[in-house]
This record gives sequence, C-alpha cells and structure tokens, in this order.
Amino acid sequence: MLGLEQYREAMERCSQCGYCQAACPVFSQELLESYTARGRTLLIKAALMDGDLPVGKRTKEIVANCLLCGACAHTCPGGLPLDEITVAARSLLRPGGPAASLRRSLHRKLMEQRGHPGSLGKLGPLGKTLGLAPADLPQPAARPFLADQPLVLRPSGEARARVAWFVGCAANSLHLDTARAVRKVLLANGVEVALPEGMACCGLPALAQGEVDLAQDLARRNIAALAAQEVDAVVTECTSCVLMLRDKMSRLFEPESPEARAAEDLAPKVMEAGAFLDQLGLSKTPRGRGISYTLHQPCHAAGFAQQVQAGLALLEKVPEAGYRPMADPAACCGAGGDFFLKNLALSRGVRRSKLEQIEQSRAEVVVTPCPACRHYLGLALGPDKVKHPLAILAGAYE
Ligand code: SF4
Ligand code: SF4
Repeated sequence: MLGLEQYREAMERCSQCGYCQAACPVFSQELLESYTARGRTLLIKAALMDGDLPVGKRTKEIVANCLLCGACAHTCPGGLPLDEITVAARSLLRPGGPAASLRRSLHRKLMEQRGHPGSLGKLGPLGKTLGLAPADLPQPAARPFLADQPLVLRPSGEARARVAWFVGCAANSLHLDTARAVRKVLLANGVEVALPEGMACCGLPALAQGEVDLAQDLARRNIAALAAQEVDAVVTECTSCVLMLRDKMSRLFEPESPEARAAEDLAPKVMEAGAFLDQLGLSKTPRGRGISYTLHQPCHAAGFAQQVQAGLALLEKVPEAGYRPMADPAACCGAGGDFFLKNLALSRGVRRSKLEQIEQSRAEVVVTPCPACRHYLGLALGPDKVKHPLAILAGAYE
C-alpha cells in the first residue's frame, strides 16, 4: 500500500465483469457507475496516474464516496485490491494547508493515545454546541480503560492460555463496557492476559483518510510492542483491528522489508477475542440468560467471517439465550468507520435496509464485534440495543 503505481498491473486485469457493482452499498443507494469500484478505478487510473483527465472537485468526491467496506474486493473474481487502490488515491489527494496540517496532527495524537483525546476531549461538546463537530460524534469516557489496568491480568488458578490483548481504541475510550466484558470472560476462562506497553491505534482509521505514513508509524509501534510477547494469540475485540493487524499491516511496507516480515510473523496469531475463546473452549459454565439476539456481521470482516461466526457459536453455549438470524447479517450498516459523519444521507440510506432486517428478526438486541457499526446502529436503535457479542457471555457470568 505504498503508491498507486504498484497497483497498475492489477487495475489492468479488471475484466469489467461488474460483480463489484452488485456488492457495493454505495451503488445500491446512488445508482452511479462512478461510485462502483470498477468506475472509480478507471477514474483513478485516468486522472491520477495517466493524466488523461483533470483532477477536479468531482474526482475528489468520487474517491471520497467509498465506505472502504471491502465488499467489492472480496467479491472480485480477479482478486483486485480495490479498497487499497482507493486508499492510495486518497493519499495522493490529501488536502494541504495549515487547517489540514492541524487536523492531521490532532488525528496523530488521538491515535497515539489509543483513541482517548485526554484534555482535548473537552473540546468535543463545545465543538458540537458551536456546530463545528458533528452531533453524531461519540463522546469519550472521562478515563480510558487502559489507565486502570496492570500490564498483566492473571486469572485465579492456573492459566490455561496466555494472550496479548490489543485493546481497540473504541473499547479503550468509548465502549468501556465491551472492554470490561472481554476482561471478564477471558479471566473467568483461565486466560492470562498481557496488555503490552507502547501499543497505539491499529492505524485503520489513518488509512481510511489516506494517511499511509501515519499508519506505517503506528504499525511500527504495534509490531515492536506485540512481537516481543510470548503468547498463544494476539486477541482483540474489534474486527477493524483484526483486519489491520492480520491482513493489512504487512502490506503497508515494502515486500521482504524487516517490518513486512515482522508483521507477517504476527498476522497468524491475531484473533477476534470470541473466536479465540471458542477455540480454547469455556472452562466456566455460563448461567441461563433469557435474551434474544441477532448478529450484524461487519462487512470489512468478510475475509475472516469464520472468526465472527466462531464468536457467535460461543453464545450458543449460553442457556436460554436465543439467536434470531436476520436475512443478510453481512449487509453493510452504512457506518464505514467515520464515513457516516460526513455522508449523512448516503449512510442513512444504507442503514435503512439493515434496520428493517433487524426489526424483522424480532431480536431484543443486535450483537456486532465492530464498534463503528455498534455506534451507528445504536444511534438509530438506542445505545442499549447494540452490544459486543462477548457482553452476552459476560452477562451470563454475573
Ligand atoms: S469485480 Fe473486479 S474484475 Fe469485475 S469489474 Fe469489479 S473490479 Fe473489475
Ligand atoms: S469498498 Fe465498499 S463502498 Fe467502496 S466501492 Fe467497494 S463495495 Fe463500494
């Protein structure tokens, strides 16, 4: 994911088959060929690589109007890395000037602080009141989860496994209930948990902005923190972090470089926390919990859907809890990280059909391992109606 030119050969392999169009949630709303991966890729090549078209406002809009959900890349029979091509184009189109540079340095600080803005957090409510920040921007907790944790969490009794827990930024600063649930279920099942020092944001939000340099810096920090750990797995409760640490991190660097090799070594150990527990097996029997739930599978998790399904299988072990499938659990919810903050109408249009499916499932709560999906669905359904899957299991241990 270094520059557009490295994707030229892949771009020229596009057969124009149109499978990406059928998979694209943005196309389903806008019905514009330029918003499909096929159309966008042709434009990127013509305007940003070959100089056959001018780079104007409309080019920037088309490059920006993508959720980076990856549904197109997953469905493409040619295996084109379509999401990465869009990231590389965004990197070239990054705005310059003092305002963009200030925004970039605030962004960097936030990601280095694991999503917690510290004293800058006080500016959030003020910004909303003054109309400078979107009203749908989530509010961070007063104190991040990691501020009160030791470097190692030990279960009572002998440990059955040892993991490094990559606490995602959302669990650290927004959804502390998720972090507490993960801690509870890991410890209850005899897992020793290392919380390595020095970790930063996984870097996926930086990539979505085209900030490849920042994503590389964050990856170097995370590799240094995690590679030193002698563990059975690196677990995280966030599917965006799984995507980054497992599938994307090595692609940030030149092939065969020391960073790429270290990231490749780490990748097979990365697991969604529920999938890890399902594989280990529960040693503590959950109590009965009369609750019905449906699953929203994040679309960016298409490449490791079996991990999301394994997390769901874990919930089948909770007596009296009932799964009510929706018609298409993997259909996009419209969040796209922070895409929904800038593309209100488009995101709401995508979310509408998801909400219909949720209603038809007649489940009491929606479970999803993606914090952005959780937040965005929660804005429509109410925050208590959307949870991390492990919160159901944690509730059965109370
Ligand atoms: S699915 Fe892949 S090969 Fe087919 S049109 Fe889209 S980008 Fe091209
Ligand atoms: S990443 Fe998602 S939103 Fe973007 S073009 Fe592909 S399918 Fe459409």
